[in-house]
Amino acid sequence: MKKIFILLLLPILLYSCTREKFEAKSENRFLMGTVCILTLYNGESREIFEGAFEIIEKEDLLMSLQKGNSELSMINRKAGIEAVTVSEDTYQVVETSIYYSRMTDGAFDPTIAPLVELWGIGADFSGRVPSLESINSMKALTDYRKVEFSGTNTLYLLEKGMKIDLGGIAKGYIADKVKEYLLIQGVERAIINLGGNIIVMGSKPDLQPWKIGIQDPFDTRGNHIGIAEVQDKTIVTSGIYERFFYEDGKRYHHILDPVTGYPVENDLASVTIISDKSIDADALSTSLFVLGVEKGLNLINMMDDSEAVFVTKDKKVLYSSGADEVFSLYHKDYSLITPDEYLAR
Ligand code: AMP
Ligand code: MG
Repeated sequence: MKKIFILLLLPILLYSCTREKFEAKSENRFLMGTVCILTLYNGESREIFEGAFEIIEKEDLLMSLQKGNSELSMINRKAGIEAVTVSEDTYQVVETSIYYSRMTDGAFDPTIAPLVELWGIGADFSGRVPSLESINSMKALTDYRKVEFSGTNTLYLLEKGMKIDLGGIAKGYIADKVKEYLLIQGVERAIINLGGNIIVMGSKPDLQPWKIGIQDPFDTRGNHIGIAEVQDKTIVTSGIYERFFYEDGKRYHHILDPVTGYPVENDLASVTIISDKSIDADALSTSLFVLGVEKGLNLINMMDDSEAVFVTKDKKVLYSSGADEVFSLYHKDYSLITPDEYLAR
């Protein structure tokens, strides 16, 4: 009788041990102008959280457009004057950003900073459409082909007034850095969330994939249109809902079209990328948003390790060729359409 009782108890004991072993711990910090949330499973400690947040702060200090003493600001100040040698990190992010500029024929262009500042994105961004004249003169300074890579970690912006903004890519890079650090610290399961730029490490403690919701672009934060089930992946969304203001009843958001100098005007509400590296996912989500559905699908379908979910303003959802394997749409107001159906509209 006693033996049976112990045997019956055993699974319960094992279960509670497992649960205890994989208890999650979360910490938030407001960094890079956004909320950064780290959730660690097993291996969490005060030092590890501190170390991870320090990395975010340190990298932001190198690459922030808003911070006057960042390496990026130094490159920008020396535009048209002289080349500047920077850290390997800053160099790598600028180099990758220009790689995506080439790949998207300039739809993604980090030299968009003069326009970003003119619109006040990142600062006030509170309801002021600039004059057409000022938009045109800042637009003339936007040209990724005028970034010169000269020697080891040395960069030069060819024209005075040119400026780089890494707002569309740096969070992804920094998330990758945090992951690298956590792995070195022996953390195998974690969720790194830098203002919606998400990396999931490993699987859930029960060995199932993590379930990450994709934001409904027309609802308040935390309301999702569907779920991505992933392990060891990054999920990054660019959308009209992230930063915007209204003027005369018209909505102006934070992703700019380098051709017009105005916020991108197409039928997209958001683009989500599911990929291996967050720097790529971050650059690609912004890129595909600017490119639109047709060109965006062509680009993403050429890539083996990345998938995209496009959400249009009329609540249609389109998948890249392998996205159906990781994403499921459940919101009843949204419906899936195929690329062919989309093109035939
Ligand atoms: P994300 O939220 O990652 O899509 O990035 C948007 C941010 O990237 C904006 O807040 C700007 O700082 C910057 N940005 C805006 N338009 C572009 C563009 N066409 N190419 C590159 N970066 C951009
Ligand atoms: Mg981005």
